[in-house]
Amino acid sequence: MNFVTCEPPALDTLEVSLFGTGIGEGLAIHLGNSEWALIDTCRADAKGIPLNLAYLESIGIDVTKSVKIVVATHWHDDHVDGLSYIVDRCQNAELVFPSAITCDEFHCIVQLYANQNYILDREKSGVKEMAKALQILMNRRETKPNIYRAPKRAQADHFLFRNSYSQLHAISPSSEAIQLATEEMAAMWKTIENQSSSTNKQSISRDSIAAPKRNLNAVALWLRWRDDKRVLLGSDLEEHGQPLLGWQAALSCKQFPDGKASIFKIPHHGSPNGDYNEVWNQIIRPDDPVAILTAYARGIAPRPSIEDIARIRKKTNQFYYTTLPSNTKEKYSSAVEKTISGIVKRRQSLRKYPGQIQIRWEDNKSIQIRYSGSAGKIFL
Ligand SMILES: [Zn+2]
Repeated sequence: MNFVTCEPPALDTLEVSLFGTGIGEGLAIHLGNSEWALIDTCRADAKGIPLNLAYLESIGIDVTKSVKIVVATHWHDDHVDGLSYIVDRCQNAELVFPSAITCDEFHCIVQLYANQNYILDREKSGVKEMAKALQILMNRRETKPNIYRAPKRAQADHFLFRNSYSQLHAISPSSEAIQLATEEMAAMWKTIENQSSSTNKQSISRDSIAAPKRNLNAVALWLRWRDDKRVLLGSDLEEHGQPLLGWQAALSCKQFPDGKASIFKIPHHGSPNGDYNEVWNQIIRPDDPVAILTAYARGIAPRPSIEDIARIRKKTNQFYYTTLPSNTKEKYSSAVEKTISGIVKRRQSLRKYPGQIQIRWEDNKSIQIRYSGSAGKIFL
């Protein structure tokens, strides 16, 4: 894709770049001092390079050295497509997973994937990609022990990274979310065991391993940049109406969030189940925060819908998307529809159509926003 063309950010400039393909998302975050985080991954085609990694290379970043942390916020395939490629290239980075997937059952599932005799490929689950990433790390432990770094488990209130500019914290999953996700995975493992004991092991159903149905375990992130800048990266974290889960639990973390964020990666592609009013009230600045989102165009209810866009637009005049599902286009005002019509035409010849939103924020200056590909701003 055509990325925003630019020089790398100055050492003291915060950058948040969001990439979306219509069915996937990834972020590249400049943490200061030419140190970067890659949060989730997506690719424009099955054999492509993950967009956040390709962007860093397009602006001359040495990803082997400069990427310090790679976070897979949860194991849905729209967030981990190309993860193993990133883990392979970014040898100086620590890989972060949600806590619950470190349970014994997950490791057994990974072993199943390693055995070519089993038929376990299920395209909608990110398990295979997660397993590939873990195997690369395990191989590195054997072959390059001097550069090997163990995968880190993230959960609410965990510190993930710190340098002289920024601190990155996980504000989910909560303890209860980890408990429930672990139970869900144990049930999944039991299904596999039952199938493999009652039939020939090689006939395990393709549907045996599905990604967890709810995004209980997603890692939402809070970035504190010195004293004055805050960013909320909402992953696909949902609100469940229960104090121990989802956004309610995230808001009750002990140390962070601290203050109010000026940049907000909207959770769960704008879906109402990720949009919790108290998040806006308590930890997002009220004066036109920059809201950014990616689409999820697969399935019967592509996101964001026109209602999602209108709801979020009420919160801010600074609302940007990487891509929009084509089914939302009819209800836009003519100005927006004109912008989108070009995207839809091109989408007919492409499986995915990617876009980038680039946000840069220098000290004592206002936030600068540029975008490329199918990305744009909502003017409704
Ligand atoms: Zn998603």
